[in-house]
Amino acid sequence: MKDAGRVPADLVDNGFYGQDIISVSQFDRDKLDYIYRVAHEMRVLVERFGSADLLQGKILANLFYEPSTRTSSSFMAAMLRLGGQIIPINNVQYSSVTKGESLPDTVRTLESYADIIVLRHPEVGSAATAAHYASKPVINAGDGVGEHPTQALLDQFTILEELGRVDDLKIVMVGDLRYGRTVHSLTKLLVNYGVEFAFVSPEILRMPDDVLDVVRQSGHAYTELDDVHNVIGDADVLYVTRVQKERFTDLAQYDRVRDHYIIDEELMALAKPEMCVMHPLPRVNEISYAVDDDPRAAYFRQMRNGMYIRMALLASVLGKA
Ligand code: ASP
Repeated sequence: MKDAGRVPADLVDNGFYGQDIISVSQFDRDKLDYIYRVAHEMRVLVERFGSADLLQGKILANLFYEPSTRTSSSFMAAMLRLGGQIIPINNVQYSSVTKGESLPDTVRTLESYADIIVLRHPEVGSAATAAHYASKPVINAGDGVGEHPTQALLDQFTILEELGRVDDLKIVMVGDLRYGRTVHSLTKLLVNYGVEFAFVSPEILRMPDDVLDVVRQSGHAYTELDDVHNVIGDADVLYVTRVQKERFTDLAQYDRVRDHYIIDEELMALAKPEMCVMHPLPRVNEISYAVDDDPRAAYFRQMRNGMYIRMALLASVLGKA
């Protein structure tokens, strides 16, 4: 915690107050249960009242160096629904970053105006660097191919809401497991539970070793395969990802793998009647539009859950939940 041992009397000492949220490795089961409970309350709050004034007077600096639709706008919506205000910096090309300002200086500037900073940046480790220089809390909204912890939290919250549990599930992740930061974070989070993994990808897009090490060290079973037909019938969760075009240096290589997997009605006919299909979005071609009407398609509900999770995190870190 940045203000170690100093939780003001009018704020909640919830274990999150003043903390940076940089990696899923910060969360144990108790912390996860807490955030999911608060997120559930946020859902009820939004459904009943639309908004509240919990974060009135607080300002969020939303600093995005990479494109984003859902993460950026759901953080903004989360802050606004809790009565707070935002400084949105989604076009860093119009900020002093273009003049050569460093990340530490940009962060130190924004924290003079705001109470909390949300950062998306193309470099692995950038959120940790920003947190090091900032005295206000920093939330990692994606650091290159590194982590995307708030996405992993909303993904797991979605599994809970859709299937009622996280233990004893077969989680099948499909697509770009090499560059997809969401599957890195989600895998590291799910090792807190009794799940079994299947990682489905073309050879060149395999799950990185550091993530597989976490799976191995936690004693979880996993398989790696190329053909989704061989495993879809066992999936409780089918987590589909986009091939991350922006991370390829050789676009011919991207073209060879871009449409390797397309989840369509024919494939869905092989899946269990009770399971869910997830995707962090944006979708390119990986899931056919016909699947959207299948009740097992959870990706639009998953996207909405992002706002509840981010409301829970903002309120907790600011000591109001
Ligand atoms: N929106 C997610 C991310 O920022 C997934 C993606 O871009 O494919 O990582």
